[in-house]
Amino acid sequence: MLTEFEPRVDSPTIISTAALPSWQTELKDAVRSIAQLLEQLNLQETDLDQPALADADFPLRVPLSYVRRMGVGDPHDPLLRQVLPSGAELDPQPGFLDDPLAEREHAPAPGIVHKYSGRALVITTQACAVHCRYCFRQHFPYADNRLSPAQWQSALDYLASAEDLHEVIFSGGDPLSLPNDRLADLIADLARLPNLTTLRIHSRTPIVLPSRIDAGLLRLLKETRLKTVLVVHANHANEINGEVQHALAPLRQNGTLLLNQAVLLAGVNDSTEALTALSQALFSADVLPYYLHQLDPVRGAAHFDVPDDRAQQLWRTLQASLPGYLVPRLVREVPGDAGKRWLNQ
Ligand SMILES: *Cc1c(COP(=O)(O)O)cnc(C)c1O
Ligand code: SF4
Repeated sequence: MLTEFEPRVDSPTIISTAALPSWQTELKDAVRSIAQLLEQLNLQETDLDQPALADADFPLRVPLSYVRRMGVGDPHDPLLRQVLPSGAELDPQPGFLDDPLAEREHAPAPGIVHKYSGRALVITTQACAVHCRYCFRQHFPYADNRLSPAQWQSALDYLASAEDLHEVIFSGGDPLSLPNDRLADLIADLARLPNLTTLRIHSRTPIVLPSRIDAGLLRLLKETRLKTVLVVHANHANEINGEVQHALAPLRQNGTLLLNQAVLLAGVNDSTEALTALSQALFSADVLPYYLHQLDPVRGAAHFDVPDDRAQQLWRTLQASLPGYLVPRLVREVPGDAGKRWLNQ
């Protein structure tokens, strides 16, 4: 569960707000209640189709920067739908599970998920800047993955010895919710492993909190000997505004490859128009669409599901209207497969 955030940030006695990098201040100020979010958007509970429900295990969290991209007075805003807890989460949902990808079976060392050849995930933190209602890791037992120094050492030993491994993927939670000094330590330890060539970061933070791409982070990614790839996560064109373009530009200039993964979500982006606009908005920010994921069947998210035949129909209309480099691969994660299953056809 992604309920905690960096404890240092929440301790005014240790660090005053004035001393925090601006992104950490923004995170402290993130919207955390349904009432506050509705008020920001000039909405009443009665405007909503489903009652909004607070979930103690996976509560509402959304930075104001992202809220400002939502339409005021629009209960159907596609960004709002991604973050507002809905009563639909509690409906009975056969086949929707707590750990839909059986990731817990692929942890060869603490904090490591190694399912695919050549690349492995490092679960760096349980925290995220935003809580997405469709998240497949919303019931993940993150407490088990908080690494002590000894555990991190055994994770490193595993990564050094794993056959054919050359790429580490920082995942989470969201790895960019860690402060730069912590990331610097992790990256330095990994850069010492001779078998590794590539560091990939999967993060939604550059989209929901663009100020996170600060000078310190840019320096870290520029200076490591590893090739760097940042896979951001935007689902709708309205998420890509000038702030996001501005934040991503120096990463590109530093040689970081920028890709996007989106999740196909009913009521958010399940139309040709929305998906086309998303690809074009990403391109305007120098980001190429990489994956369009079919929803993982996680408990509480069934109302976002789009059937495969509808997804494939949408993908074909995309392919017919966009250059190939703006067409994401339509994929589903299937437990036991050697990679994501491509559904585009
Ligand atoms: C998605 C994923 C990866 C990365 O897969 P790519 O096809 O290389 O993007 C690696 N490990 C796990 C467990 C994943 O789910
Ligand atoms: S940012 Fe990613 S990991 Fe975090 S809640 Fe959203 S989808 Fe899940």
